Amino acid sequence: GVNLRGLLRRNWLLIATVVSVVLGIALGILVRQFAPLSYLDTQYFGFPGEILMRMLKLVILPLIISSMITGVAALDSEVSGKIGLRAVVYYFSTTVIAVILGIILVMTIKPGVSQTADNIDRTGTTPDVTTVDTLLDLVRNMFPENLVQACFQQYKTKRTEMEPVNDSVNTTTIPPLTTTIKAAVENITKEYMIVGSYSDGMNILGLIVFCVAFGLIIGKMGERGRILLEFFDALNEATMKLVQIIMWYMPIGILFLIAAKIIEVETWDIFRKMGLYMVTVLTGLAIHSLVCLPLIFFIIVRKNPYTFTLGMAQALVTALMISSSSATLPVTFRCAEENNRIDKRITRFVLPVGATINMDGTALYEAVAAIFIAQLNDYALDVGQIVTISITSTVASIGAAGVPNAGLVTMVIVLTAVGLPANDVTLIMAVDWLLDRFRTMINVLGDAYGAGIVQKLSRKELERMDLTSDVDVANPF
Ligand code: ASP
Repeated sequence: GVNLRGLLRRNWLLIATVVSVVLGIALGILVRQFAPLSYLDTQYFGFPGEILMRMLKLVILPLIISSMITGVAALDSEVSGKIGLRAVVYYFSTTVIAVILGIILVMTIKPGVSQTADNIDRTGTTPDVTTVDTLLDLVRNMFPENLVQACFQQYKTKRTEMEPVNDSVNTTTIPPLTTTIKAAVENITKEYMIVGSYSDGMNILGLIVFCVAFGLIIGKMGERGRILLEFFDALNEATMKLVQIIMWYMPIGILFLIAAKIIEVETWDIFRKMGLYMVTVLTGLAIHSLVCLPLIFFIIVRKNPYTFTLGMAQALVTALMISSSSATLPVTFRCAEENNRIDKRITRFVLPVGATINMDGTALYEAVAAIFIAQLNDYALDVGQIVTISITSTVASIGAAGVPNAGLVTMVIVLTAVGLPANDVTLIMAVDWLLDRFRTMINVLGDAYGAGIVQKLSRKELERMDLTSDVDVANPF
């Protein structure tokens, strides 16, 4: 009937995206079966997907800068303080709920008890990162020393001291220049390894802190600040138009992205060995996203949470396909504003922050994975250690960048904190590409729910501002 056609027309992009996921998986399986590709050919095959990723990443920078600055400048500092506080309380409490849920599940299902660590292959090595380092890095990243550099690099802890590589060199004398250079190069390589999967991330946290400060000042500048506010507002509008165009390309990009991934997977055998562990993580993510978050949403917002989730569908599929909260951000914005009608003053302010620090899925995963590794090693955890795991999992999820596999890297701090070998993170590496997708999807959903909840809690302030302010950057909600 009429309704169905209307529904199809309104959601054609979502439908096209879902269809392309299914086609991509089918294509991947077919190629795998009948025309196996070499590593290089798979890279060629995935090229249209690579272009999609590049386009999405490209808009992150103008999007974050324009949305944060206008988001903050449009609110007065008292209101933005309140909204910020509400967002942080929401982020923190939902992350802790996710961690507790993960711990309960992994201690009940006990996925690691029936087998030992020796049965699973370890691949490569991972240097250790400690909680203190992660926290310090987090704060360091908040204060980028160079704005331009912050656009393409995060600060990485320099943990390795400069040592001459050659043992025979007498350390009391100054080592010859070549040795020093060699040591420096090795240190850079080590450093790169620690945060290897972060390497393509920009320092979003640093940019956010700068934009908040800048936005607050612009907001207070009165007439003189107006021109800047209008500039960034126009930049934001233009960027969102660009996002709309990119979304047209999305189904094609996604088809090849997922097909190439399916072809690329070395062996599916590992999934049998790790089955129960994966089921534990996925069950936790499902409960968190279908029960916990909707319940909180319903209690506060008094609206159907599943309608809200459906409104986010395009962003959720995107997150599932590209494993990156940051690169999904443009789509998250569109879904939250267009489908769920969340006030732009809220989304602009809380979504970029959420994509960077609020990761419920990652937190849940960290806790499950750490206890799973303990179980594999026959390592009994006492209550204190379990508390330590919940705290460090929270820190690890906040510290993880919104890029693929970041959670796997920060996992190391959870392991080290309870005395498990950091290297054991390699036990779960082989299946991380799949879990990463699902936890990223839940990370994005948590950010969106957060925006909805913060909007509801802030409605009084927003209404009051509608009456007093003459800057209208909000959605008619
Ligand atoms: N890939 C996740 C994200 O972007 C982070 C993680 O690895 O857990 O949200």
